[in-house]
Amino acid sequence: MVAVAAAVATGGDNIDGRASADRRSADAATARASCYRCFKPRVACICSAIRRVDNRTGITILQHPRERFHALGTVRIARLGLTRARVEWCAPWEDAAAIRDRIPAGAALLYPSPAARALTTLPASEHPRHLVAIDGTWFLAKKIYDAHSWLHRLPHVSLTPTRPSAYRIRREPQPHCLATLEAIVDALRILEPDTPGFDGLLAAFDTMVDRQAAFVPLRAAV
Ligand SMILES: [Zn+2]
Repeated sequence: MVAVAAAVATGGDNIDGRASADRRSADAATARASCYRCFKPRVACICSAIRRVDNRTGITILQHPRERFHALGTVRIARLGLTRARVEWCAPWEDAAAIRDRIPAGAALLYPSPAARALTTLPASEHPRHLVAIDGTWFLAKKIYDAHSWLHRLPHVSLTPTRPSAYRIRREPQPHCLATLEAIVDALRILEPDTPGFDGLLAAFDTMVDRQAAFVPLRAAV
């Protein structure tokens, strides 16, 4: 998808005032134009900060439709920055059998249920070959989880984060809650500690948070 603000100058008379108004409008349109890769405004484009990581463990991210165009979504960084990551738009109110059928064998669900086993405690022989993560606020992620019983049948794995989330713009309900990208990177670091480049992905994430924080007063953020 290419999201570019429509050009506003439409010709007409050459009166100076009109010309400068057109120029101002064109400048505003340029400022609003979005990068077609990360979907962020060009002034906040994060693409140059992203270096691709050649992860071995496949990632499927189930994304609630309401998160799809959220300016602060971290899933775009995961999609652009990981060679093996796929995003599926997964609505709680729709049948998701097709999505289920695309989940490969050996997959586990990254979800903090009481039955989940901490990834750090699993021997390498029990490491999942594929991870399914649910993106969205806790509320929306739980809606997806509750709606699709096939998710309950996947082995559940969890993280035990030791640091507060860098995702300071959107309020997390608990201090230990991580943004989707942070959770995926933390899991991959446990599963494949030899893979280089994860620091770079989190740096891109920090860049995104910093650039966005420059636009959004923290107290006004959701
Ligand atoms: Zn970009």
